[in-house]
Amino acid sequence: MKIVVLGAGFGGLELTTQLSDAFGDEIDVVLIDKSDGFVFGFSKLDVMFAKLLPSAAHHPYRNIVKPGVRFVQTTIRSIDPVTKHVETDAGGFDADILVVALGADLHPEATPGLVQGGNEFYTIAGAFALRDVLADFPGGRVIVGVTSIPFKCPPAPSETALLIHDYLTDRGLRDASSIALVMPLGAPIPPSPKASEALLVAFAERGIEWHPGKLVVELDPSRKVAVLADGGEMPYDLFLGVPVHRAPAVVVDAGMTIDGWIPVNPLTLETVFPGVYAVGDATSVGTPKAGVFAEGQASVVAANLIAAIHGASPSRQYDGHGICYLEFGHDQVARVDVAFVSGQAPYGDMDGPSIANTADKADFGTSRIRRWFGQTWPATSDTAG
Ligand SMILES: Cc1cc2nc3c(=O)[nH]c(=O)nc-3n(C[C@H](O)[C@H](O)[C@H](O)COP(=O)(O)OP(=O)(O)OC[C@H]3O[C@@H](n4cnc5c(N)ncnc54)[C@H](O)[C@@H]3O)c2cc1C
Repeated sequence: MKIVVLGAGFGGLELTTQLSDAFGDEIDVVLIDKSDGFVFGFSKLDVMFAKLLPSAAHHPYRNIVKPGVRFVQTTIRSIDPVTKHVETDAGGFDADILVVALGADLHPEATPGLVQGGNEFYTIAGAFALRDVLADFPGGRVIVGVTSIPFKCPPAPSETALLIHDYLTDRGLRDASSIALVMPLGAPIPPSPKASEALLVAFAERGIEWHPGKLVVELDPSRKVAVLADGGEMPYDLFLGVPVHRAPAVVVDAGMTIDGWIPVNPLTLETVFPGVYAVGDATSVGTPKAGVFAEGQASVVAANLIAAIHGASPSRQYDGHGICYLEFGHDQVARVDVAFVSGQAPYGDMDGPSIANTADKADFGTSRIRRWFGQTWPATSDTAG
């Protein structure tokens, strides 16, 4: 059986690791990604706030040594979900089982004025460039603003507001600055009232303005104002944006999306096309767009493929559970356990913030890099700001 996995992010890396662990050389898996390496979403914040060197955040795919798995670095140009044929710059690939784990594409250019007059911290290039922008920032009005729904890692804008507070405080610039957080959600983390309440208290303690239910639709660089969907305007000196998210064009062109994202069976991650699965941010499975959920979905697909290959009936079902680590600043991290069970209201509990959770979060990253790449991470020298 030939399994072709499209995208080597959280979903693709977890899936191919589990298949290799189960079958070694006995399986034929191709993993395709256009990038030369993987970067954790949370590492983008670490680089931006000078806690991690850019080179240390990048995990080269050439380090993937998994029996039965061949990594191909190339751009996927078209997908035929009926014949399970994929065309790439490196030629065509035919699959018996196709898994789409292509994530969400980011479009800063879709928000007028954002590229010209602002910054975004969601792409690797944008977040890494902000390291120098922040180092040169003399203080002033900072807006952390979201430009569309849905967006990856809904806690990330709140974390960024808290981290910029620390950053400006450490540089003696906080008194000369204001920080505003503009979010389309009614609460910082809607499924967890406890986490939302703790964040609102933290914002109030630090003098961070919280603007719920609002979306930034445009920047006017000449007047240095952010324009909101309700027509309001907010002046800024430094705009840190969450750009527009869309499913990659290649899956839209393949006719796999409805209302912008790939619909899947929420329990099995099967698409409507036989033998074609989709996991992670590219789907509309009902969980937030976050790596921990992409990984959990990939585990379910892996378990069911492994069972099927062994001749057993696939029985694993996706439970929608995930753990998010939430940076509160002051080197403290909270752990939010959330569940998005199909047909039920989402719920979430929170532990911390605490130093113990900071260590847990570090272990989360370290353990993935060890399993996916066989590497120790981070090295002591990596963190030197
Ligand atoms: C600032 C920030 C902080 C975050 N913090 C967290 C966190 O703390 N915890 C958490 O769980 N999540 C976090 N996330 C979210 C997390 O990064 C994503 O949700 C996760 O990576 C999604 O996994 P995925 O496998 O669906 O897609 P991705 O990891 O995005 O992988 C998709 C892959 O597909 C490839 N690809 C796309 N199109 C093509 C093509 N045409 N041809 C070839 N390859 C292609 C891409 O190169 C990419 O490697 C954060 C995100 C950001 C931006």
